[in-house]
Amino acid sequence: MKLCELFGKGRTVFTCEVFPPKKTAPVDSIYKTLDGMKDIRFDAISVTFGAGGSNVNQSTQEIAALIENQYHIPAMAHLTCVAAGREDVDRILDQLKASGVENVLALRGDANPDYPPKTDFKYASELVAYIRERGDFGISAACYPEGHLESPDMVSDVRRLKEKVDAGAQHLVSQLFFDNDDFFRFLERARIAGINVPIEAGIMPVLSAKSIQRMVSLCGASMPAKLTRILARYGDHPEALREAGIAYAIDQITDLIAGGVEGIHLYTMNNPDVAREIAKSIASIRKL
Ligand code: FAD
Repeated sequence: MKLCELFGKGRTVFTCEVFPPKKTAPVDSIYKTLDGMKDIRFDAISVTFGAGGSNVNQSTQEIAALIENQYHIPAMAHLTCVAAGREDVDRILDQLKASGVENVLALRGDANPDYPPKTDFKYASELVAYIRERGDFGISAACYPEGHLESPDMVSDVRRLKEKVDAGAQHLVSQLFFDNDDFFRFLERARIAGINVPIEAGIMPVLSAKSIQRMVSLCGASMPAKLTRILARYGDHPEALREAGIAYAIDQITDLIAGGVEGIHLYTMNNPDVAREIAKSIASIRKL
């Protein structure tokens, strides 16, 4: 199933993201993650694409195929053109097609100093257009409620996003954010710019002060005072921070759905227990 077909059916779409386990993790750890996710009834699961990919023990395509064929959940494979040239893209798309995976999240990615960047596609919009030419994939792309870090301003970022949609992106997934007003403002700008495809809001539960500070510095998400207070108070108490982080994510999702967002994309960090707790707390809400 193409992910864009999930929308417009009168309820909030609920998807999540997993990543291929690192080489240091047991090879079967992805099964544990997916076994834990399967009863949560996500509408789709996406699989990230690591730069270079050599530090993981299973490829994005393999895991996407597993989700699609063994767990019978629609899968979406991320693909970055900074790590994949035209030949790599062709090979990966062939693999995905052969295994019945119908969705690709087309990304530019970020240069990794350990691997020389591929240069066939400069921006995600070029990769989107290339995948579209094949005509057989649902194509999704990334968007940034607070603007992409390299963008001079929100206006040019939204214009670039419109180009990506015009090139063929049928569905957008947002970068994580902690202030829903940022997302609602972005949504309004996108709609005014004529971006009419479904846009999912990316939510990451805060479970570790260290990892959230790293994420925030990587992606530029701003920290509302409420979250800063939570980190200051509970940051050194993992159990308390876990409770507070889950409560914060549930609060964000509840408000987003009340505000009419079409989809929630949960960054699960391969933690099914946290995903299940969140899903359970919004069981009735997500049906609306
Ligand atoms: P683009 O859409 O190409 O945009 C990048 C920048 O270029 C933006 O500032 C944009 O405004 C600008 N731009 C676009 N077109 C033009 C143009 N024609 N001229 C000038 N400027 C232009 N990274 C991974 O490595 N693996 C993953 O699996 C992964 N998954 C992600 C999932 C989501 C939902 C999100 C939000 C991000 C993900 N990322 C992933 C991170 C992503 O690769 C980075 O944010 C990257 O910096 C930008 O990728 P993009 O596809 O948004 O790029």
